[in-house]
Amino acid sequence: MPSEFDLIRRYFSRSAPGTLLGVGDDCALMVPTPGQELAVSTDLLVAGRHFFAGTDPLRLGHKAVAVNLSDMAAMGAQPRWVTLGLALPQADEPWVEAFATGFHTLLLQHGVDWVGGDTTAGPLTIAVTILGEVPPLQALRRSGAQAGDDIWVSGTVGDAALGLRCLKDGWILSANDRQFCLDRLDTPTPRVALGLALRGLAHAAIDISDGLLADLGHLLEASGVGARVHFESIPCSAALHRQRGHAGWEALPLAGGDDYELCFTAAPAAASRIHQAAARADVMVTRIGVITAGVEQVLLDGNGTAMAFAWQGFDHFRTLP
Ligand code: ADP
Ligand code: MG
Repeated sequence: MPSEFDLIRRYFSRSAPGTLLGVGDDCALMVPTPGQELAVSTDLLVAGRHFFAGTDPLRLGHKAVAVNLSDMAAMGAQPRWVTLGLALPQADEPWVEAFATGFHTLLLQHGVDWVGGDTTAGPLTIAVTILGEVPPLQALRRSGAQAGDDIWVSGTVGDAALGLRCLKDGWILSANDRQFCLDRLDTPTPRVALGLALRGLAHAAIDISDGLLADLGHLLEASGVGARVHFESIPCSAALHRQRGHAGWEALPLAGGDDYELCFTAAPAAASRIHQAAARADVMVTRIGVITAGVEQVLLDGNGTAMAFAWQGFDHFRTLP
């Protein structure tokens, strides 16, 4: 069985062209771009809680990077470096090799260097810290939304949650729809290019990890504003539309989670520039409502009638697994 150091040497020591000193010493050394602010974020993925222990390790490696890149995207930051903290029940070499390949492949696509980490025995847990850069005053905070702003969402929401319904609750979909949703669940596409393109355009942004309404709710709270959201405007995939008859399907786009799309607000006058930015970033964006003064959080159906729906999303300490 390989040792901890064999694993590090064989699978975790990758070339790091944007780094002064990568894996192998007590610390990595990076040279930040002068004048830029450093953006840092950590995400913890725990087997049985955030993913099934039997998840394909290649896809798990992708997801561990994707959820962190998504935080960079939501901040308008350029991702540069990551570290990986990994607890493994055993030194299963094929598993580690596949995981490291999935992890490194997505990093390479974004020009991000894997500069260090820690490896230990323990219940399967993946902790990634990502560092990025953003010019002064250009970070897309949650707190900048203004009354009168449009509310936008990238891509489609609810697909990952539909994938989870297939796995956990036996929802039956066509083979194509099922694969599409499982891909959205396991290999989300972080909207890094969109986040960068929204610098100077969006007033506030957040990535959707816990569910659209819950994460929008965090943005509203941070900004001290309210919102009116039109349910029929929320972008849903064809696969999700085909489940419209299923009891409770509305919860998927509203509160499904694991979407890793961006939700952001901007002045109505910026709409055409936002469409151009999205086209450059090769992702669809959709206006789903408006920011209002005050604290209302209103969801409207196609007739303009308020829909009763709890805006709270997943909470690890309140929601039973
Ligand atoms: P230390 O005892 O100083 O923490 P380690 O033996 O844990 O050093 O790690 C040796 C080197 O390997 C360090 O540069 C560390 O960053 C790197 N490393 C350990 N685990 C990982 C990992 N999972 N991914 C990337 N680098 C790792
Ligand atoms: Mg260590």
